[in-house]
Amino acid sequence: QWIMGIETSCDETAVAIIKNGREIAANIVASQIESHKRFGGVVPEIASRHHVEQITIVLEEAMKQADINYTDLSAITVTEGPGLVGALLVGVNAAKAVAFAHGIPLVGVHHIAGHIYANRLVSEMEFPLLALVVSGGHTELVYMKEHGHFEVIGETRDDAAGEAYDKVARTLNLPYPGGPHIDRLAQDGEPSIPLPRAWLEEGSYDFSFSGLKSAVINTVHNAEQRGEQIKPEDLAASFQQSVIDVLVTKTIKATQEYKVKQVLLAGGVAANKGLRSALQEEFVKLPECELIIPPITLCTDNAAMIATAGSVLFEKGVRSTMAMNANPGLDIAIHNY
Ligand code: ATP
Ligand code: MG
Ligand code: FE
Repeated sequence: QWIMGIETSCDETAVAIIKNGREIAANIVASQIESHKRFGGVVPEIASRHHVEQITIVLEEAMKQADINYTDLSAITVTEGPGLVGALLVGVNAAKAVAFAHGIPLVGVHHIAGHIYANRLVSEMEFPLLALVVSGGHTELVYMKEHGHFEVIGETRDDAAGEAYDKVARTLNLPYPGGPHIDRLAQDGEPSIPLPRAWLEEGSYDFSFSGLKSAVINTVHNAEQRGEQIKPEDLAASFQQSVIDVLVTKTIKATQEYKVKQVLLAGGVAANKGLRSALQEEFVKLPECELIIPPITLCTDNAAMIATAGSVLFEKGVRSTMAMNANPGLDIAIHNY
């Protein structure tokens, strides 16, 4: 059984083909990072134009790599939302066109469900499980009692973790996207600069990163005014430690409270070396719960994650119609029933 995935929610034009739900036959990602770099972030209008230029090329490349015919496909799955509306529209319309032209069932997928399901390409999922989603636009703890059922038990009240990384990176004059640069600097620094950790109310699984971000910016400005030097490596290490402390502590607490069998790491910030090793270290102490961390190429936006999530929904009988539209504010609970 072959399933196609299409993802264009932000600045990656991606098409993948998977076999039997979990095997990657093609996973093509055309990144637009170079075009957005000089603006210091993603420019929606430019993103849409690039998707339009790239989608057919990427789609044909994926079909060539998988070496199959359209008639072999059981379903076309596509990111329906959330994301940039003009970017999503390109993927949604490409998916509808292929589905209509070849009479193939269509399945709309939530982008964050995709990030979570990237883990299914690594290991079979066992329930109940908890996913720590840390991406450019989301930071949440998601509880899943079964396939295709998502309960958000905590989420950010302001900035997402990736957003905080990118803003702190900008303060340190690092190029966009800043997350990988901060990660690299942090490896060579000491977490010696005191920075806040937002624990919020007792028992809350919510997050907040804007106070931390402001504290980093103030630290840099104050040092500049006093003519002092701060080692960027130390600032990066201190910021990263603060983010990791909160993410890891809340994840461990939820793991114990919800008695989950697995914890899955998901989203672009899951590529972070410091976060990956901190979680691995903590989960050694919790042998009853399995920690799964996808390889870095499956953490950032790709279409294989959409295809594997879509294949589960397809098996459950979920179908989208030709009336499907890009939905920038799509709620992950649409998949629950
Ligand atoms: P969302 O998935 O919430 O819609 P998005 O698709 O833009 O947002 P992703 O592609 O999942 O986000 O992740 C991109 C984010 O991941 C960026 O903020 C980037 O800085 C961050 N990131 C990537 N690699 C690392 C890393 N090694 N350390 C920290 N952050 C990282
Ligand atoms: Mg991206
Ligand atoms: Fe994403």
